[in-house]
Amino acid sequence: MKTSYAIGIDIGGSGLKCGVVDSNGTLLYHFIFPIDQTYSQGEVIALIVAAIRKCAAQAPGMISGVGIGFPGIVQNNVIIGGGDNLPDFKDVDLGAQISASTHLEVIVDNDVNMMALGELRYGAAAGCSDVVFLTVGTGIGGSLIINGEPYGGYQNRGGELGHLTINHGGKSCACGGTGCLEAYASVSALISRYAELHEAEVSDEFNGKLIVSNYLAGEPHALKAMQEHLDYLSTGIAGLVNIFSPQKIVIGGGISEAGSFYIEEITHRVRQKAIPVCAADMVVVAAALGNRAGLLGCTALFTN
Ligand SMILES: [Zn+2]
Repeated sequence: MKTSYAIGIDIGGSGLKCGVVDSNGTLLYHFIFPIDQTYSQGEVIALIVAAIRKCAAQAPGMISGVGIGFPGIVQNNVIIGGGDNLPDFKDVDLGAQISASTHLEVIVDNDVNMMALGELRYGAAAGCSDVVFLTVGTGIGGSLIINGEPYGGYQNRGGELGHLTINHGGKSCACGGTGCLEAYASVSALISRYAELHEAEVSDEFNGKLIVSNYLAGEPHALKAMQEHLDYLSTGIAGLVNIFSPQKIVIGGGISEAGSFYIEEITHRVRQKAIPVCAADMVVVAAALGNRAGLLGCTALFTN
């Protein structure tokens, strides 16, 4: 079979991750264009076009398409909004604009959906048909694969798994709601709780890595904060298991690389909380592709 090549552009708040991927899922060439909140919509679009040209010049063969991951709500290649770090992107037909400038087929979707596609095609969820994907970091992102296809709800407006309510009337969340999984089980929430137990302000001194290493060393505040984190996260996951009965729960984000204890503790707790028949075939795993997941997912629909 002839090798095909595709270009991925993973848009984040601080940069565009760009790369060329072949049909084996090998990232042949990649670079980052830094951006920040001061960049206008036009400037970001011009950079995307420049990045695609740079990638195309490096590809060893014909480009079959361009996949773009955007941190917000995307419907039919149109960015509806919701990009917290890119507020200028509202009702932007990014797919059509980029396609017109580059004469390439373009697919745009939410960045977490693209990561989930990467894990489905090449990573921790390869071979699965029903998957719940969560990224646990500053916030909690989510994506669903049902019957082998991404599921985003009507007009791709759903899949906000981090905003599952786990505590009625609880903590305020960035989404405007209260009591969301993200407000309790994100790494930011873990850090805040740990600082609170130390009766200290949240500062750069406190981070996920420190809490994990103190937890493994048995430091009481780290034990307490981490136990709470695991309880909250597994409560949310158990609810998702009861609804979707996935084959795999894939957990991404830096904390998923904390060590095997993390996945084991989550698994144990989810099994205690979920309806046994719903969790019968469920396996919790760490994401396998790390920070390449987004680029590999962006290109997955064009390489076969
Ligand atoms: Zn929320």
